[in-house]
Amino acid sequence: THTASSLIVGNWKMNGTSASAATLIGEILDGAAALPPSVALVICPPFTLLDRVGRMIEGSVVRLGAQDCRAEPKGAYTGDVAAPMLADLGVHYVILGHSERRRDHFETDAQIRAKAEAALACGLTPIICIGETAEERDAGDAFLRLSAQIAGAVPAGFGADSAGGVIAYEPVWAIGTGRTASREDIESTTAHIRQALAAHLGTDDNLPQILYGGSVTARDAASILSIGTVNGVLVGGASLSADSFLGIAAGA
Ligand code: PEP
Repeated sequence: THTASSLIVGNWKMNGTSASAATLIGEILDGAAALPPSVALVICPPFTLLDRVGRMIEGSVVRLGAQDCRAEPKGAYTGDVAAPMLADLGVHYVILGHSERRRDHFETDAQIRAKAEAALACGLTPIICIGETAEERDAGDAFLRLSAQIAGAVPAGFGADSAGGVIAYEPVWAIGTGRTASREDIESTTAHIRQALAAHLGTDDNLPQILYGGSVTARDAASILSIGTVNGVLVGGASLSADSFLGIAAGA
């Protein structure tokens, strides 16, 4: 077990209305007051709710995150949102390279790296997602795949910057499937990720924090969060219920 602080990130994905967000955030704020100061909560609503949720959590311990940004700071990019626009709204974190964006928007590691650099440039903390597919895992290529994603998507100096940096290990086969990776799997894989980060960044100091994500529930959170190389969790489905999300945070 470790006593360092834990980062509990809720990714709402494409869910939520002004009414549902008001209820959910209200419940989360009520419960968050009881959490120890070592637990940091981050809520990542869709772009449409960032401003509203940002106003609701103002002055609380909960921080705001976005689910993507574009690398360019402004311009003729219809439908996209730039990192400085997020910073202007009071956003602190931005999830980048989520497997759903890699899958649906064909995002590459090079694009994810450019987005991370843009985010860092305006003081946002990127949460860079990496993870192997079931096929890669079955072929015995999971570690190779993760090392390649780190080499391609993680900017130089990541983590040592004042904005910091976070890596989310999210095995694709565990996302939204109800199939959480085993504690042993998470332990060995995050140890590998730590080594790959140290090799890529050329240092053992100020390495990015490492989160696990993939069907985390209140039932398994405490066990996952007790792994020495795991600094927190990225939660999808279970972040849409205050009971589940707070139950996960209580495991930290
Ligand atoms: C995610 O998409 O980041 C995630 C972890 O989803 P879920 O918790 O629903 O598997």
